[in-house]
Amino acid sequence: MSTPSKKKSLKQPDTKLSSKESSKNDKIQEEMRVLESEIRSHQYFYYLENSARISDKEFDLLFTKLKKLEAKYPDLVSEQSPTKLVGSDISVSSDFEKVKHKVPVLSLENTYNTEELLDWIQKTDPEQIYSVEWKIDGASIVLYYEKGILKRAVTRGTGGVGDDITENIKTIQNIPHELKSKIDLYVRGEVFMTFEDFEQFNEDFGGKYANPRNLTSGSIKHKYASEVAKRPLQIYTYDAYFPNGRKNIQTHKQALELMKDEGLPLSPDTEFISLKEMEKHINRLKKKKDKMPFPIDGLVIKINHLALRDSLGETSHSPRWARAFKFDAMIQESIIEEIIPQVGRTGKITPRARIKPVQLAGTTVSYATLHNQDYISQLGVGIGAKVKISKRGEIIPAVEEVVEPGLNGVYLLPKKCPSCNSKLQKVDESVDLFCINLSCPERMKHTIQFYCQKKQMDIDGLGERQIEIFFDKKWIQKIPDLYNLQNYKDEMEAMEGFGEKSVALILNGIEKSKSKSLRTLLPSLGLNELGHKVTELLIENGYESIDSIIDLAKNNNAIEILNSLHGIGPRTAEAIVKQLNDASVLDMIGKLKKSGLNFQAELVEKSDIRIFENQSWCVTGSFENFQPRDKAMDLIVRHGGRKVTSISSKTTHLLYGEGAGSKLSKAEELGITIINEKEFIDLLKKDNIPYSNEKE
Ligand SMILES: [Zn+2]
Repeated sequence: MSTPSKKKSLKQPDTKLSSKESSKNDKIQEEMRVLESEIRSHQYFYYLENSARISDKEFDLLFTKLKKLEAKYPDLVSEQSPTKLVGSDISVSSDFEKVKHKVPVLSLENTYNTEELLDWIQKTDPEQIYSVEWKIDGASIVLYYEKGILKRAVTRGTGGVGDDITENIKTIQNIPHELKSKIDLYVRGEVFMTFEDFEQFNEDFGGKYANPRNLTSGSIKHKYASEVAKRPLQIYTYDAYFPNGRKNIQTHKQALELMKDEGLPLSPDTEFISLKEMEKHINRLKKKKDKMPFPIDGLVIKINHLALRDSLGETSHSPRWARAFKFDAMIQESIIEEIIPQVGRTGKITPRARIKPVQLAGTTVSYATLHNQDYISQLGVGIGAKVKISKRGEIIPAVEEVVEPGLNGVYLLPKKCPSCNSKLQKVDESVDLFCINLSCPERMKHTIQFYCQKKQMDIDGLGERQIEIFFDKKWIQKIPDLYNLQNYKDEMEAMEGFGEKSVALILNGIEKSKSKSLRTLLPSLGLNELGHKVTELLIENGYESIDSIIDLAKNNNAIEILNSLHGIGPRTAEAIVKQLNDASVLDMIGKLKKSGLNFQAELVEKSDIRIFENQSWCVTGSFENFQPRDKAMDLIVRHGGRKVTSISSKTTHLLYGEGAGSKLSKAEELGITIINEKEFIDLLKKDNIPYSNEKE
């Protein structure tokens, strides 16, 4: 402690020293922040893109440098440091810490048609302005920012208590770890996946996931944050709570503007609408919804004025100042008579409810899906429950709400497979149960059905019902049996509902499938991780026949070799090697070969007009003139280009169409030439290259 008399003389050198020190600290701090952001962006490219832009060694150097600085200057370590993220991968477990929400997280009451919604507005306050927002079908979370720093991310959970999934959520690219200003803010948001990202990711996992929502909610609860980082997750935030008072924020609109200014991502198309314009606006959005790249299950309509929200308050379940609006949902009440666990192709168990038949959207509905155990438990559904059933678009009818729970308690899925009696297991993520027995009869039946689908071998006349009948008669038990089905021609023709014509169609379709190439055949076999994308990657890398792929799988270094191919990760490499060394898989392939199936990739004939020479093209979205989009890819290859399935620093062009997902923004980020359908056609026209105008 300095006495007042000494203070003056001491003050001078003191400040000098501290300013010198602080400027040095500033410099180090800046260096650390730069290192952090560099590491984070490399992690992003590595995890999300499978495309490292620097070597592992270079990456390690950056990492070590940051770690050394952090050890030397512990006071300057940022809470968001990537060194912390990686370290915590190990400690994150599937049993997440339960956290009590600081503000109860309520769910919204639904309205199912415009009249119901307008009626609610009339009763609430017809003079007010209401916000109309997309209701994104993902996983709901709450982000807790304290002094501008993301402290916790918590699942909605029961509404009162959720799981702390902070480390997982921090891996999502568009989420700010730090806001622009040092405010306290609790933010609600929805984690989701675009359709395109979902399809691609799901294909790589053998179609294990039913929809983007299931994959999203499974992903955010994954045990390892490094695994979550590989998932193409995004987030939109839509509401803010100000724990220290709202100050000059009076409306939801202002709150959203503030959120945007703070760097929080908001969903597109939010508008502020009066009662007079409401119906027109909703109709506009109804039309637009199918063009949106992410899953939407309706709209959310909220009162704009925050003080009015406060005065309206909430019931124990939901706020009185907001409603969800479900698009074209047809709702009926019914009773659950039975719950049947169904085994899918991948072994996934889906509980299906048999209900007392009701009329919905002009059809009689007798079954509705219950998705999985989590869904059942959340709703509290059991046999005998009175429920609301919905049907939206082409989606399978679903149980939406429980009206009366019934007397039998909440339904629990069995522990054993209803088809083969093997023990059911949770695989990777916790949401679904699986039968992992590869020769499970139910799985086999679905595998044959999958093989015949339009997207796969496209066998005419062989729909799910026909396959089911032939399977039960034991005429087809495995895929190769299809090619002996002609042995039962007479029996088939004699069967009710078949006849000569339809039998001829089926046998013809089976015969025609022999002309499909490896490109279609391999992914149609339904092997784990061996979907269309991985098959393409193998062909791109010169593995153009099944024999060359099997030879590769036999190689002692197979996993390393596969892993070194751009776009194939360790999990995929392992699955390929394991399955292509499996006797039953090899037996199936041998039998199919004997039946004359084509296990060779057809190659695109090269043209002399090589306008895409030395270019690497990635194609995303859907196109009017190129359906399927392979047609555009073939044109690129025919004219000298190379096609790639994911964006990396080596990609030179991105051709994008309707519904393009995250690839578009990544291409922008990397400064890749981005081309739309019209520009692509113009390129072709310049050299008089014909392109197909007709849809097939
Ligand atoms: Zn089974």
